[in-house]
Amino acid sequence: MAHKWNYSRAPGCRVGLMICNACHNPIENCDFRYRETEDAFLPQHRKCSADDPQWQVIDAEEKQQADKEARRIVAWDAFVAEFGIPDDLYHNSDRVR
Ligand SMILES: [Zn+2]
Repeated sequence: MAHKWNYSRAPGCRVGLMICNACHNPIENCDFRYRETEDAFLPQHRKCSADDPQWQVIDAEEKQQADKEARRIVAWDAFVAEFGIPDDLYHNSDRVR
């Protein structure tokens, strides 16, 4: 049966003892994956699980998000350069207060 892994990033996320069960070294500032058994969390460094195709999927999703954000910033800067900051922006936020 294929194991179901969770994907995360240290040190923002910690599970169990944070000792890689492939190389037995601590997991500190890097991507890692982990799965849970009845009695322990089993985390592995990304480099110790590099053959897992899910890492490529995660990278692609992150890149897509970053590209989208970069395009938004460029589009906003172009808008402001052309038209200035819309009055509505402040108008609407005044109403919230
Ligand atoms: Zn490792």
